[in-house]
Amino acid sequence: MRPLIATIHPGALRHNLDRVRQCAPQSRILAVVKANAYGHGLERACSALAAADGFAVLGLGEALALRMQGWTQTILLLEGVFAAEELVLAAEHGIAVVVHHDRQIEMLAHTALPRPLAVFLKMNSGMNRLGFAPENYRSALSRLQAMENVADITLMTHFATADEDGGIAEQLGVFNAATAGLGQARSLANSAAVLRHASSHADWVRPGIMLYGASPFADTSAAEFGLQPAMTLQSEIIAVQQLAPGQGVGYGQQFVAEQPTRLGVVACGYADGYPRHAPTGTPVAIAGRMTHTLGRVSMDMLCVDLTALPEANVGAPVELWGRQVPVDDVARAAGTVGYELLCAVAPRVPVEVGE
Ligand SMILES: *Cc1c(COP(=O)(O)O)cnc(C)c1O
Repeated sequence: MRPLIATIHPGALRHNLDRVRQCAPQSRILAVVKANAYGHGLERACSALAAADGFAVLGLGEALALRMQGWTQTILLLEGVFAAEELVLAAEHGIAVVVHHDRQIEMLAHTALPRPLAVFLKMNSGMNRLGFAPENYRSALSRLQAMENVADITLMTHFATADEDGGIAEQLGVFNAATAGLGQARSLANSAAVLRHASSHADWVRPGIMLYGASPFADTSAAEFGLQPAMTLQSEIIAVQQLAPGQGVGYGQQFVAEQPTRLGVVACGYADGYPRHAPTGTPVAIAGRMTHTLGRVSMDMLCVDLTALPEANVGAPVELWGRQVPVDDVARAAGTVGYELLCAVAPRVPVEVGE
């Protein structure tokens, strides 16, 4: 068996959910488990996150799968439905839907439903992706309130720069002004807002990335927020090479040794979800000791520097990311974010459940 394996840590997921509770003790928690729970496995993650007050997913298929498994919490479709037929199934199974567009209001108005649906009405407060403009928000709300198809309504928006210097002040101001005096429950905060912007916590927080033990911020690590990585991607050294000065390694010979270099070949490549853009110097741990990659990542393999680790041989364990190597550090080296790396772990990588 190829030694590459992803280990999911339910204990870390539970711990990170507790961290959300500590940060937002007055709020209910809608655990965001879209994208196969950010690569951790939908069912697996939800089992560990059972104490959440609800789950947010992208598609109806995921929502139905969760209902079939017996989850009774709120389940929210983050983009709502794409076709009227989906409304019937959503209503049948008590799945809440985001409404962000007139077309979805039309669908609700013209579809016979077995029972009324819970709706999260989304405002575009500045992200400019989904949602009603602030000036159109109240009329959308009134139309929904008048419908027998609609049960309770939650007021919702999403922040564009909660993780950056810009923060949330402007969008929060727009949202609060446009919803002043309305009595419905509210949902605004993603992980970054959960961690840094208590003024946005409101009735439902919607954490994603922090549950998985990665940081939404470039300037603060997950560990500094007391979060634990929920995934370890590990493999082994499958070959060792000795490079003389002037010899290169791999496609493009992008790394050329300047001095005698002992090089380890690791069973993990971009077809497994490791970022091809990770340059020489990307951190990796071999048998508990930190070193770095050398040369270009190839489809099924990557190379690491073992010059300072003479005891590391074929079979030595390699952590690509996890408890020793934060996924955010690998992401930063590759010019991306931890979110992308976690979501991109390939289906061919076997998954095991750790403690
Ligand atoms: C993905 C998503 C979240 C979670 O964002 P994180 O940055 O992962 O916490 C929250 N709300 C909405 C609408 C989302 O699409």
